Amino acid sequence: MAYISKNPFTGIENTQFETLSDQELNKKLKIAELAQNDWRIYCFEGRSKLLLNLSELLLKDTQKYAELISIEMGKPITQSLGEVKKCAWLCEYFAEKGSGFLHGHTLDSTSEISQICYDPLGVIFSIMPWNFPFWQVFRCIVPAIMAGNVVILKHASNVPQCAEAIESVFLEAGFNVGILQNLFITYDQVEEVIAKPVVKAVAFTGSNEIGSIIAQIAGKNIKKTVLELGGSDPFIVFDDADLNHALEFAILSRFLNAGQSCIAAKRFVLHEDIADEFVHNLKALIENFLIGDPLKSNTFMGPMVNENAILILERQLEESIKLGAECIIGGMRNSENRSVFMPSLYSNVPVNSPLWNEEIFGPVATVHVFNTDDEALDLANNTRFGLGASVWTTDTERANLFAEKLETGTVAINNMVKSEPGLPFGGVKDSGYGRELGKYGMHEFMNIKAVCYS
Ligand code: NAP
Repeated sequence: MAYISKNPFTGIENTQFETLSDQELNKKLKIAELAQNDWRIYCFEGRSKLLLNLSELLLKDTQKYAELISIEMGKPITQSLGEVKKCAWLCEYFAEKGSGFLHGHTLDSTSEISQICYDPLGVIFSIMPWNFPFWQVFRCIVPAIMAGNVVILKHASNVPQCAEAIESVFLEAGFNVGILQNLFITYDQVEEVIAKPVVKAVAFTGSNEIGSIIAQIAGKNIKKTVLELGGSDPFIVFDDADLNHALEFAILSRFLNAGQSCIAAKRFVLHEDIADEFVHNLKALIENFLIGDPLKSNTFMGPMVNENAILILERQLEESIKLGAECIIGGMRNSENRSVFMPSLYSNVPVNSPLWNEEIFGPVATVHVFNTDDEALDLANNTRFGLGASVWTTDTERANLFAEKLETGTVAINNMVKSEPGLPFGGVKDSGYGRELGKYGMHEFMNIKAVCYS
């Protein structure tokens, strides 16, 4: 297995990397173990300082890192620039707030004094996807490292230059060798790494299928996992909503990153009084998308990540059409560049079709129409996923009711679902378990130790 970096838009291979031998891998695990001994006792002030260095370097070389993202997985450059800047923001956030999340505190108990201490778990194994090749990694590893853990990273095999760049920028910021190491390893080696006693927990972000495999291996070895998996977020628009505002975010929420986002608005759930107008305006906006080369600054939508991703999408659409789904716009590849799938909308989607039951990881949204609030809620919750949901209404009581009843890890009212440093992020149902970001994300990889004095 090689780690191959290939430009999805041009089809040209950038470079490739060999996987580690078992001997090289064992050496890196030893380095991680040694690094952990020093890092866990390193002062918070020092850790914060290093995170601020990291942020500065990301801001200094934003263009360089953004170009790597765009040439490896096809994200339009303006979105890649935004991704790198967001990583810098994350570093600053945890540099400032991280230590505060880890202060011990006292508790009531039958002992004279009881307190909680937060200890780092040790070496954390982070297995990450390609769709936000910097942000996914940073949001997983920065809180874990600030908390005194060290991280070994198995990044997706199509973004190896991003993986290398992330390890390098940590070293450049002054983190000791071993605090973050990138591993180019095979699936068999992933299994072996999870089983090694030195590895204490696994953070996995990716598909449900692989998440389940990873969690089984970890479970067998009694290692904690955090699983950040797929989603099918509803975007619910009521007749009292500010429609222009909702439309602006509908476009961003579904079509950024060519729709390849776990928290993309995959299902537009529309009140019948505004549904026609909403779809009409959405179509008009879609028709004006600037589609093409991700390296051009005015491109809004670039290619999908690779041929296999398009084939999966085409299979999902074909099967859904056979069952009765109807294409409103799009539904095909771009005629000039076959790596681009045209932005698409589908209606009349049957509940037994892939468009309903599977995660749609591309620029395709479905449209569903409701009459009552109960119908909207049923439609929104009728999915095996539970990552995010957004609700567009000016009625506060209704917003509160939906915030309470939606079965998701995040509910955004009059905004799109997004992840940011201070907000816990994660899912319920088949979207996974555990949280990243904020205080709650940081505590996932801590030993929350109770100390009692009698
Ligand atoms: P994926 O195929 O599950 O891959 C994720 C990671 O697992 C990659 O590093 C991949 O490496 C590795 N992997 C794949 N098969 C493996 C195996 N048999 N053994 C060990 N490791 C294995 O997912 P993806 O296509 O990269 O990412 C898209 C998915 O991620 C979508 O479902 C999306 O919704 C989800 N996602 C979720 C969140 C969230 O926060 N909930 C965020 C972003 C993405 P290789 O590249 O070498 O195969």
